[in-house]
Amino acid sequence: MSPKVRKAIYPGSFDPITNGHVDTIRRLVSLYDELIVLVANSSDKKYLFSANERVELVKRSLQAISGVKVNSHNGLTVEYAKEVGASVIIRGLRAVADFEYEMAMANMNKHLDREIETLIVFADPQYTFVSSRLVKGVSAHTIEKLEGLVPSAVLEAMKNKVRGT
Ligand code: ADP
Repeated sequence: MSPKVRKAIYPGSFDPITNGHVDTIRRLVSLYDELIVLVANSSDKKYLFSANERVELVKRSLQAISGVKVNSHNGLTVEYAKEVGASVIIRGLRAVADFEYEMAMANMNKHLDREIETLIVFADPQYTFVSSRLVKGVSAHTIEKLEGLVPSAVLEAMKNKVRGT
């Protein structure tokens, strides 16, 4: 019998990916045989970056980390997990403000599929204030000040968005 492959999924909007996400991914990668960063695409959300752009930015931002797969998905995360044989979904927690949403989502996913476990990873303290939403808000006024908070590929993409190129 072949040994069991430990596969985990780290799903999110990644609109755009931040250094908080990258840090979490870096810490997780050695814990699993396969880590899949899943760029979610939901029809009822409005994104700054298209699904393709978000996947591309995630890939470019994770170039230095080996052993991570990047994919995008339109449906339920638990269905994707089942499809690829992953039994763990990982989410991040920055502060108490994240807690209720993450707990509701973990419980809903448990309701949808009891065999898939959600694990929570705390954000590194230096990134607890970093969110894609705030990054987008600030980017409308200054992009230079976002250095250190988002990967350089994201800085570049945000400059292009602001310029409309
Ligand atoms: P979603 O729209 O699904 O919440 P996000 O891309 O905003 O997608 O976040 C994906 C996951 O990453 C969430 O679990 C979120 O709590 C976590 N996360 C967001 N920002 C950070 C950060 N700065 N540090 C660590 N984890 C984070």
